[in-house]
Amino acid sequence: MAVTWSDIQYNRLLELGAGGEELARRFSDSLEKNRAFQKLEQELSKQQRRRLQDFQEKKRRGGLIRMEESLARILVEEGFSQVSTPIIMSKGLLARMGIEEGHPLNEQIFWLDQKKCLRPMLAPHLYYVLIDLLRLWKKPVRIFEIGPCFRKESQGGRHSPEFTMLNLVEMGLEQELCKTRIRELADLVVKGAGIEEYALETEESDVYGETLDIVTGEGLELGSGAVGPHPLDKAWKVSEPWVGIGFGLERLLMAGEGAASLARVGRSLSYLDGIRLNL
Ligand code: ATP
Ligand code: MG
Repeated sequence: MAVTWSDIQYNRLLELGAGGEELARRFSDSLEKNRAFQKLEQELSKQQRRRLQDFQEKKRRGGLIRMEESLARILVEEGFSQVSTPIIMSKGLLARMGIEEGHPLNEQIFWLDQKKCLRPMLAPHLYYVLIDLLRLWKKPVRIFEIGPCFRKESQGGRHSPEFTMLNLVEMGLEQELCKTRIRELADLVVKGAGIEEYALETEESDVYGETLDIVTGEGLELGSGAVGPHPLDKAWKVSEPWVGIGFGLERLLMAGEGAASLARVGRSLSYLDGIRLNL
């Protein structure tokens, strides 16, 4: 019977960025396997050390930071203004999004005290500032934020309790333009992240208008969008047509780099720019 990598060997090779073919190798006996492991581990470590050296000498900024910067530049060029709202969110603003007892997301909130939590999304704070901006700026008003969000998740390869959200909103555009515009904006961000292939999954709903998920061929959700007016708008006294999309930056990185897990590309103590540090 063919011998495969032990779990420890497999995980080590995965950390060191081994490809699918290397991970799937089969051996006739464990002596052959262990020799192959030693050789491969050495080669991969050497490669990773070289990448790490290159990082110090040239690159100097990790993928997440560079992704944030390049998407911000693209959106600013498209007429969006970047805002930076608090990471701490009040229970009241969350409730205005319908996130309270009974809502599935409610169980995923990291509470700091009875009235405050770490934001699980950016939308409530964006609604909040939009109320003033709609009054003060000419329309359409275009804003976005990029920043950390927090959700209690049963950890897996596609979720992390802290991740980076990009949420953009264009409000006060003509209703007839919304459906095209949301697709244009989805395309702008996804292509801007270096991803060429994606699909849109739309759902029509009488109550919520149109919702749209942006997914990869592997079924990885990159972002979720919506077209308003939306029933939630009432709580914010907003009555303009709008489009909005929330993307996970780590998901965009995963898809762009073909990374198998989010841990490699997200905020980390073990990886720097996807390079495992215990080399
Ligand atoms: P999923 O179904 O993948 O859990 P979601 O639909 O709950 O995601 P949304 O509320 O639509 O997530 O958030 C917008 C985007 O934020 C998602 O499309 C995804 O890219 C990203 N995202 C959400 N939760 C996480 C998480 N725990 N870790 C990493 N990215 C996340
Ligand atoms: Mg979603």
